[in-house]
Amino acid sequence: MRAWTVDRPRPVEEDPLRLAERSVPVPADDELLVRVRACGVCRTDLHVTEGDLPVRRPGVVPGHEVVGTVAGTGSAVTGFAPGDRVGVAWLRWTDGTCAHCRRGAENLCPGSRYTGWDADGGYATHTTVPAAFAHRLPEDVDDVALAPLLCAGIIGYRALRRTGLPPGGRLGLYGFGGSAHLCAQVALAEGAVVHVLTRGADARRLALGLGATSASDAYAAPPEPLDGAILFAPVGDLVPVALRALDRGGVLALAGIHLSDVPPLRYETDLFYEKELRSVTANTRQDAREFLALAARYGVRATTHPYPLSRAPQALRDLKAGRFDGAAVLVDDLS
Ligand SMILES: [Zn+2]
Ligand SMILES: [Zn+2]
Repeated sequence: MRAWTVDRPRPVEEDPLRLAERSVPVPADDELLVRVRACGVCRTDLHVTEGDLPVRRPGVVPGHEVVGTVAGTGSAVTGFAPGDRVGVAWLRWTDGTCAHCRRGAENLCPGSRYTGWDADGGYATHTTVPAAFAHRLPEDVDDVALAPLLCAGIIGYRALRRTGLPPGGRLGLYGFGGSAHLCAQVALAEGAVVHVLTRGADARRLALGLGATSASDAYAAPPEPLDGAILFAPVGDLVPVALRALDRGGVLALAGIHLSDVPPLRYETDLFYEKELRSVTANTRQDAREFLALAARYGVRATTHPYPLSRAPQALRDLKAGRFDGAAVLVDDLS
């Protein structure tokens, strides 16, 4: 099989990825062998490849938005058969025994492991996944359109639920990239009034086209107070801006894995009247199941930009430089 491996993490302009010839992995007893058909390119892949995240597996194969078919099963696997279409996402394993796992918060498990960081992911023709962490996928959506749902979509969905938005509530989205444009589709389908606050003119056009009520600059005040808001932009300066835009009792969820420093908050304007600030950390398998089911029901679609798998390094360079709208997806041309 062929796989892109992170040779030594460094800026993508210095070609850290190497195309390797490897033997097809043998799935462990509880794992599936997956033939990769499409793999989304997530910003976290850039963090793994450039070394913003510490090395957890030398020579790792990045990629955690995998759509593929089962090509083999370990001896203890039940419920999956060769040919089944499955998704492989970021959350790869949790211990199931710690206090967080036992209360349904496996996203906080200190022992959790991740695809494309702790274990080889989907920038390859084949990969493996523990069967308990593989996702069944809706049937009527093509591989490329599904791939970005497996990270960007699931995280945006968890962030939306973290706002506790009431039915018909007013939602503010700060930043409007891959995750936000999927989250907006769920919120709109559920009857929310969506206001998008972002810098980019193209993103504002996309937001209005999807059905947002308004789209303005990130630092502008929305046209009405918000019941909930999600900060997708990794900009801490926007935290007090978004808190001030909330109505009494409103909730701000911080969706990013990275955020620049948050400036001092003023209790009176930013937090009083029971405004709440919540972070979002990864996701549970339950989040993924709920989101994939709703995405199928609501017809949630990612705006995609396909690349052949052989051009994975170019996809990462283009992502870093912001050269495309929507989500890049690698499609196998190396088998
Ligand atoms: Zn745990
Ligand atoms: Zn991701």
